[in-house]
Amino acid sequence: MSKNINRKITIRKCRWYEVCPMKRYYEAGKLDKKWIELYCLGDWHKCVRYRMEEMGKPHPDWMLPDGTLSDILRKD
Ligand code: SF4
Repeated sequence: MSKNINRKITIRKCRWYEVCPMKRYYEAGKLDKKWIELYCLGDWHKCVRYRMEEMGKPHPDWMLPDGTLSDILRKD
């Protein structure tokens, strides 16, 4: 007899999400949702910000998850 196991699909978000400036920019309507979906709620281990955070390396708030520096966010 096989057990019927209900598997709950959970999205593991990046552990830095709550304090990340990308969350703040997104909630203020200044950052496209794709960044959050692709990185923060997706492949966060590929995020340049995440990697630098883990290594304790300083990085500007206006640096996007792919490492690009955003002049638009910088002016904010
Ligand atoms: S931008 Fe990078 S470091 Fe920030 S919450 Fe998203 S995945 Fe994590």
